[in-house]
Amino acid sequence: MGTNADTEKDARRDVHSLTRGELTELLAGLGQPGFRAKQVEEWVWSKNARSWDEMTNLPKALREQLAERLTLGAVEEVARQASSDGSRKYLLRLSDGVCVECVGMPSGSRLAVCASTQAGCAMGCAFCATGGAGLTRSLTDAEIYEQVMHVRDDFGERVTSVVLMGQGEPFMNYDATLAALRRLNSPEGAGIGARHLTVSTCGVIPQIMRFANEPEQFTLAVSLHSAVQKTRNALMPGVRKYSLVNLYNAMGEYVDKTGRRPTYEYALIGGVNDTDAELQALCDFCEGTLAHVNLIQLNEVEGSKLRPSTPARAEDFVRRLASVGVEATVRNSRGADIDAACGQLKQRVERGR
Ligand code: SF4
Repeated sequence: MGTNADTEKDARRDVHSLTRGELTELLAGLGQPGFRAKQVEEWVWSKNARSWDEMTNLPKALREQLAERLTLGAVEEVARQASSDGSRKYLLRLSDGVCVECVGMPSGSRLAVCASTQAGCAMGCAFCATGGAGLTRSLTDAEIYEQVMHVRDDFGERVTSVVLMGQGEPFMNYDATLAALRRLNSPEGAGIGARHLTVSTCGVIPQIMRFANEPEQFTLAVSLHSAVQKTRNALMPGVRKYSLVNLYNAMGEYVDKTGRRPTYEYALIGGVNDTDAELQALCDFCEGTLAHVNLIQLNEVEGSKLRPSTPARAEDFVRRLASVGVEATVRNSRGADIDAACGQLKQRVERGR
C-alpha cells in the first residue's frame, strides 16, 4: 500500500529536468543567492553527485530543503558483465523501473561508452535482440546522459567518446538525443568534444537532414547493413519506407552541408549480406562519396539463425572497398564473451527472473 511519504516522494521533480532558470527561481524562493544554481548544476551534471550530502559547498539546511523538493535522478545498476577485453556492460534501472543497457569500452587512455536512447526499440532489425521486444519508451536527455556518467564513475576515468548505438533509434527520440549530446559536449557537463559524440541511426532521412543543420560537429553513423533494397528491407523493416536511393541522396546532402565524413555500419552476416552481389552493391553505394565503412563481426543472438561471416570474407570486403577508394575497417568485436550486443543482457536478466 502506498504511504503518504511515497506520494510526496513521487511528487518531487528530478533536478535534471530543471532548466537553469527554474533552478535559479527555486533557489531564490529559498532565499539563496544567484551563484547557488551554478554550484548545484556542477554537482548534478559534472560531478554526478549521488546524494545531496555530497554537495559540501552548500549549507546543510539548503541540502535538506533541496532533498525535500527534488530527486537526484540516480540510475540504479541491476546487473553487469565484465569482459576479458576490459569492457563492461551494465543493465541500469531508471526511476520508473524501466531498464536500459550501456557499455564501457576502455582502450589505453581512452574510454568509449555506448549508450541507449530508448528502452526497447520499434525498428525491429532482424539481427538485434532489442528489436524483437518492441519499444517500451523513449528516454529523457538526463537518462541518456546519466548512463555515460555511470560508466565514467564505475571506471573512475574520463569518458573520451560516446556513441548512441545502444538500445533504440536515436532519431525517433530526436530532441532528447540532441539535448543529451549538448550536455555531454558542454564544459558544464561531461566536456566531451563534439566530434567524439556519435549518433547511430538506421537511416531516418528527415532527421538526418535536421541533424545536418545542427551547429555542432557531432558525428553521424548510419546502419546500412545492405546496399540491396530487398536485403535491407528484410534486415531492417523499420526503415523500409526510406529507400536506399533516397538515403544515398540524403547522405550526399549531409556531406555537402557539413563537410563531415559519415560512417556506414555493416554487420557481416554469412550468406545474407556478404555475397559478391552484396559487396558490389556496397561498393556502388559508397564509391565517389565521402564515407567510412565499419565492418562489424556480428554478435550471435540466441535463437537467431543469422551467423557471422568469416574473417577472410571481412578482409575481402576491406580490399574491394579500398579498390574503389573507400576506407573500411573491421571492427573488433568488443565484449565477445559477454552479452554485448544490445538487448542481450536485458533478455538474460529477464529470463533469469
Ligand atoms: S539495431 Fe538498433 S535500431 Fe535496430 S532494432 Fe536494434 S536497437 Fe533498434
